[in-house]
Amino acid sequence: MRHRIAVVGGGPGGLTFARVLHRHGYPVAVLERDSAPDSRPPGGTLDLHEGLGQLALEKAGLVAEFQALSRPEGQAMRILDTAGTVLRDWRPGPDERANPEIDRGQLRDLLLGSLDVRWGREVARVVPEAGDGVVVHFADGRQETFDLVVGADGAWSRVRPAVSPVTPQYTGVTSVETSLDDVDTRHPDLARLIGDGSVAVYGVNRSLVAQRNSGGHVKVYVKFRAPLDWHADVDLADVEAARSSLLALFDGWAAPVLDLLGHGGAFVHRPIFVLPESHTWAHVRGVTLLGDAAHLMPPLGAGANLAMLDGAELAESIAADPDDLDGAVGAFEERMSARAGRWARITTAGLERLVSPDPADAVALFDEVQRS
Ligand SMILES: Cc1cc2nc3c(=O)[nH]c(=O)nc-3n(C[C@H](O)[C@H](O)[C@H](O)COP(=O)(O)OP(=O)(O)OC[C@H]3O[C@@H](n4cnc5c(N)ncnc54)[C@H](O)[C@@H]3O)c2cc1C
Repeated sequence: MRHRIAVVGGGPGGLTFARVLHRHGYPVAVLERDSAPDSRPPGGTLDLHEGLGQLALEKAGLVAEFQALSRPEGQAMRILDTAGTVLRDWRPGPDERANPEIDRGQLRDLLLGSLDVRWGREVARVVPEAGDGVVVHFADGRQETFDLVVGADGAWSRVRPAVSPVTPQYTGVTSVETSLDDVDTRHPDLARLIGDGSVAVYGVNRSLVAQRNSGGHVKVYVKFRAPLDWHADVDLADVEAARSSLLALFDGWAAPVLDLLGHGGAFVHRPIFVLPESHTWAHVRGVTLLGDAAHLMPPLGAGANLAMLDGAELAESIAADPDDLDGAVGAFEERMSARAGRWARITTAGLERLVSPDPADAVALFDEVQRS
């Protein structure tokens, strides 16, 4: 039986869903707000875990391509204290492939392949009809009806209200991101500090992480506890004003660490919002959610992995029982929410320890994760 299936959002979760469903021979309409794949910067690098994102790529038949693009050496991690003393310097062994890194743009292109995405299709809301079908209302006024609409449209999902009234809440931790280009030639000292992977520095209720992407590009993230409007008096679009307010927040940290902020370009504010750890909803026929739309959690290296595995498993569930679409979706929702709940608790506790009054807690967390 052929169903009319749409996925809203062409992020890691939506694209993996579409790829795996296609692999099983089922068509799906991918409705994406962006006007083109490269209409905005794709973001930093993602580490894909063996039992999560890598498993999803296996289900999509993309393991060989991923191995060719990914950077196992990017798993390297150095931890400094705020005086610049090296506390940990972990490097992966030659066969260590538990969490290799891949640039978000490369992952997107890999998943896109020959998928037929409908770009520039911003969804405003979805409305399950009393009879059959779910109506997708687009921002430009158009409408289209499907048998199943999958909300893979991220933190501020427009599909979510069809199943749940819950909205993301601010964690009290905010993040600002900047980046450096051509680090090996333009900033060789910083390139050495960062190494092949990441360097992280933990202070009291603050952290700074610099992470190497491919092509000599580096993303620098600072996190700190602050009210949502901490920047009310600072125009973050003014690069020098943003820089000096951040340097003031990290005053007293070692000069080479502060150089990472000193050389950064534009500063992007990303306050950390989450959905409740136990977010679930009563099953609604014809609509479901996956990825951040279903279980937004602190950005501790799990969100894209979970979104991809959600997408792969929902597609497999549908392909395994195409005559019972509703049952296949319900079974997926149970499995997803159990897994997401576990990860939400892990990442919420992790954020508390990484941006903590006691910086030793962050180092202890690293030791625990590295051991397991
Ligand atoms: C700084 C940072 C670093 C991170 N690092 C990692 C990491 O290393 N590993 C990891 O696993 N996770 C990481 N994450 C988390 C990860 O980015 C997210 O969990 C992941 O992107 C979620 O995927 P998704 O497909 O659910 O949603 P998204 O990636 O948010 O994709 C949603 C898509 O939906 C589209 N969309 C939105 N609204 C609409 C609409 N109304 N109509 C149509 N389309 C719409 C968007 O344009 C987008 O393409 C990080 C997050 C941050 C902020």
